[in-house]
Amino acid sequence: METDLDLPCPSCDENGTLKMLSLSSEIPYFGEHTQITISCKKCGMRQTDFIPADERGALSYRLSIEKLEHLNARVVRGPSGTLRIPELDLEASPGNQATGYVTNIEGAITRFIDIVRMMMRQLASDIDSDDNVEDADIRLELLMQLEIALIALKNGELFGELSLEILDPKGHSIIAHEDAVKRELSEDEINNLDVGPKSIIMSSDELNNE
Ligand SMILES: [Zn+2]
Repeated sequence: METDLDLPCPSCDENGTLKMLSLSSEIPYFGEHTQITISCKKCGMRQTDFIPADERGALSYRLSIEKLEHLNARVVRGPSGTLRIPELDLEASPGNQATGYVTNIEGAITRFIDIVRMMMRQLASDIDSDDNVEDADIRLELLMQLEIALIALKNGELFGELSLEILDPKGHSIIAHEDAVKRELSEDEINNLDVGPKSIIMSSDELNNE
């Protein structure tokens, strides 16, 4: 269902350019939910969220990656979801990337590889422009080790050693696999998570009262 929104675009401030597309479907372990995408035809801003039929609270799902089948497990990342590979001390917080997406474990690992490579390029250009970058060798070596570990994980060479965790204070994110371990986030964890930019997508309360 597509509707025009009578709101200014949060990105370009233009009026009458926002559209909302909503789609109800079912994802195993995530259940009945509405996928909502708001887009602006002027500036191209796009934001997707996954609104569960029932409030879930602040949740984390963690899957120890132990077999090939786990790489295919579906990952739903809401706009306020943080992805972690705890054993490597890697974290991808929402930051400016406001939009949610659906991927699988392999796709999530690929995103981490992209982030590590981006950091390597950044470090290399910092070194080029200034030869006093602190601990540049050590940092570059660390990034290279991370890249090697992530590629090995994707190739099934590190099964049983690493896990993927998704943490979402709104409960709009999940690793949809029976082996994923679900737990509630503590107050401390919630306060320390980056929740991303303010959502323009309404909460499930407002949606359900329509
Ligand atoms: Zn716009």
